[in-house]
Amino acid sequence: MAEFVIVGGGVYGMATAWHLARAGAEVSVLERKAIASGASGGPGRRGVRANGRDHRELPLMRAAFPLWESLHEILQCDGLFERTGNLRLTRREQDVPAARAQAAMQNRAGIETHVLDARQLRALEPHVEAATLGAIFCPGDGASDHTRTTRAYAAAAGRAGARIREAVEVVEIIDDDARATGIRTAAGEVVEAARGVIVLSNWSVGDLLGPRAAFPVWSEAFQVLLSRPLADMPVRHVVGHASRTLSLKPEAGNRLMISGGHRGHYDRESHVGTALPDAIAANVAEAVATYPTLAGIEIETADAGHLESVSLDQIPVIDRAPGCENLWFATGWCGHGWAIAPVVADLLARFVIEGLRPDLLAPFALSRFA
Ligand SMILES: Cc1cc2nc3c(=O)[nH]c(=O)nc-3n(C[C@H](O)[C@H](O)[C@H](O)COP(=O)(O)OP(=O)(O)OC[C@H]3O[C@@H](n4cnc5c(N)ncnc54)[C@H](O)[C@@H]3O)c2cc1C
Repeated sequence: MAEFVIVGGGVYGMATAWHLARAGAEVSVLERKAIASGASGGPGRRGVRANGRDHRELPLMRAAFPLWESLHEILQCDGLFERTGNLRLTRREQDVPAARAQAAMQNRAGIETHVLDARQLRALEPHVEAATLGAIFCPGDGASDHTRTTRAYAAAAGRAGARIREAVEVVEIIDDDARATGIRTAAGEVVEAARGVIVLSNWSVGDLLGPRAAFPVWSEAFQVLLSRPLADMPVRHVVGHASRTLSLKPEAGNRLMISGGHRGHYDRESHVGTALPDAIAANVAEAVATYPTLAGIEIETADAGHLESVSLDQIPVIDRAPGCENLWFATGWCGHGWAIAPVVADLLARFVIEGLRPDLLAPFALSRFA
């Protein structure tokens, strides 16, 4: 018997377990495979980016930045976050007004953002394609080693007393009179939860909640490419694009990470994801168009094995299940759930302990789909 059972050993499960355990709660985490084997793991790094984000997530990013800057001290682990700055490039006239509006909104939300013209951009990124009109620039953005960070949260949660079990699949949430009382595993074991159950299993949240909470969330396998080492790295910042499905990150060993939202194929039976040749070619072509000196770049790793949940309105759903006062969940991260994780996990733990939804989580309530 634990006070709280958490389903899922990704960044959300581990960070929430750490916050609850630090607050003195007895926590048990059940993970079907291994810590950081889902979207919180895999090759490359994750962008810690306010730039281009939905306005409802900007207050979370503002709160997240100080946490990212100090996370290595808090979790006693180096190499978690690097501040690199993030550029969102614009190459079409029609995208300029939206870029300016986004920059103004970000500044109003307390996120330092600069509108750069072509000359200012080229001073920061001299190898960018000549047709690029400019960019919006967030100097506070960066990149994070997601696997290392998730494991660092797991280690900290363990030190704080959380019990973490891997290779345990949860197949059912047990409830009684509008209260969750525990979970059942695939092996038939019942793990009781005296105070509540928190479902943080990303793509399987909807399956586990079933009819308790129906919402428009599904899952997709986003593609990540890592190049072979480059003789010269033309990309100096984390770079996104207003009109291309493209994100670029300089990585260790002079490798370039190319991603941005192309999808692979994911087999839900075998849980094997495959990057598709057409999507790989399209992503590389966009990278080369944006940085012409990348012509001839060779791909060393093509991954689509890390399933992510996606919601209809492109922001997550973080809530208590209707009609069940002690069952919480979070999902629908839409490929940008990483950067906000340290602050959302903290807020979620407060929601669970105090029973009241923190104001910053209000935009993510399930009732918005009602
Ligand atoms: C390729 C890719 C690139 C991304 N890039 C960025 C980025 O640049 N910036 C950004 O902010 N975000 C990014 N994201 C999003 C971010 O990584 C995710 O939103 C975040 O990691 C989700 O964390 P999680 O803990 O909810 O899910 P996960 O890490 O998927 O963890 C869920 C865990 O639950 C387990 N599980 C599932 N079902 C069960 C069950 N029935 N029983 C027990 N355990 C179960 C899984 O095995 C998994 O380990 C990206 C995501 C992907 C996939």
